Amino acid sequence: METVADGEVTGESISEVPVVEVNEQNFSLAIVQFCKALSRATLIAVDLELSGLGEIGRNYDHLQSRYDAYKKAAESRSVFAVGVALFSLRKIKGKSIKYKSHVFNFLTMSNHPFVVDPDSLKFLRSHGFDLSGHCEKSIGYTPAHLRDATKPKNRKDSMKVVWRAILDANVPIAFHNGLVDTVFIYSHFMDLLPASSDEFVGKLASVFNDKRALLDSKYLMEYSVRSTTSFLLYVFRKLQRQNFVESKSERTYQKIRFPKRNGLLEYMLPVNCELPEHVMNDQMDGGLLIKPLLCTKYMNHGFCKTSGCTNIHDIDLVLDVEELEQRKVRARRKRRHERITSSSKNEESIVPGKCSSRNAVDGASPNVETLLAARRSTFGSGGSHNAGMDAFMTGFAILYMNRMKILREKPIVDEHSNVLPLTGKHFGLRLKAVTYGTETLVS
Ligand SMILES: [Zn+2]
Repeated sequence: METVADGEVTGESISEVPVVEVNEQNFSLAIVQFCKALSRATLIAVDLELSGLGEIGRNYDHLQSRYDAYKKAAESRSVFAVGVALFSLRKIKGKSIKYKSHVFNFLTMSNHPFVVDPDSLKFLRSHGFDLSGHCEKSIGYTPAHLRDATKPKNRKDSMKVVWRAILDANVPIAFHNGLVDTVFIYSHFMDLLPASSDEFVGKLASVFNDKRALLDSKYLMEYSVRSTTSFLLYVFRKLQRQNFVESKSERTYQKIRFPKRNGLLEYMLPVNCELPEHVMNDQMDGGLLIKPLLCTKYMNHGFCKTSGCTNIHDIDLVLDVEELEQRKVRARRKRRHERITSSSKNEESIVPGKCSSRNAVDGASPNVETLLAARRSTFGSGGSHNAGMDAFMTGFAILYMNRMKILREKPIVDEHSNVLPLTGKHFGLRLKAVTYGTETLVS
């Protein structure tokens, strides 16, 4: 990015992520490239797009009730897309960790009748999902839970082949809030779901072992980084910004590169994810003026169901406000420290206004409309949403949060592996072999 002043270190950003759309027509070609990339993978990140989830609550007192709700959803809905982002570690040079990433978005649809939730359809449509195109070209599959109820139909189950190949690669697999994804994957591409949640946990534990560990970016964000906000867009964008700053400051950062040439170029859809210019140039002045205009529901959860909500839903502006508030706290602490130091030395206090304008917390206030016009971002909205991109964001986040270990060539599998977050709970679900009566929850 040549957007910083002369003489400064250029920051590492990602301008766009090329996502290969895999459909019924190009499957044979794509699976070859997919397996080739898989054979070099260090991390596999997976995300699903579903036809709906039904009435899923946030708070369940018992794991069994939560599992029953997810199982009911999985056995009545279809998987619309399987996003897979493959990352292979290429080089560690100084403090830079370089990966090559291949991102695939498999368009899928159950061959059997399924339920579509209107809210999910509206969400997908508002993010550029083309339903008629999907019907024409998606990869049909027979869900594993219907295997015994249906006669074989001379159709090869391509998606089961894909999932088998992922498991056979024997490398860590990443999800974001993966309980729903794992229930759907099991039910659609593996086997009939067991009736009891304990048995399901036991079966997952046998799938995700030490080599093929399960990593969850939401769990890591909440329990390793200790962040109270953990929706995927927030996690990715925040860590992408941090990575940029780390690279500019010559601290440990990651570089992601994408394939330039392969037979799938014509199926690549670039998803723009350039950081906003004012962020890269650190021209953040006035950003706090926007705070009252932001939607608090969106800020906390990444979505807002209030019909006609006129507040702003923009992840970059949310992160601007967060960053400026943190700078304010740091500046206050610094002033306090300087006051104590100078009084102890019996010297005059620090001269105010010494900060350079580039680092000013909230300097000369520009007009809020002008700020909004210049800074509103489209990242995360419109056509930029697909399961492939979500899988990429998940993998990026997992690698970034583990970068210090990776730099020291240590395994990224630790006490935070093989644990899934439970929405609305202050503990996760640890995957371990089922022995009835044994506690599976961790705090
Ligand atoms: Zn809202």
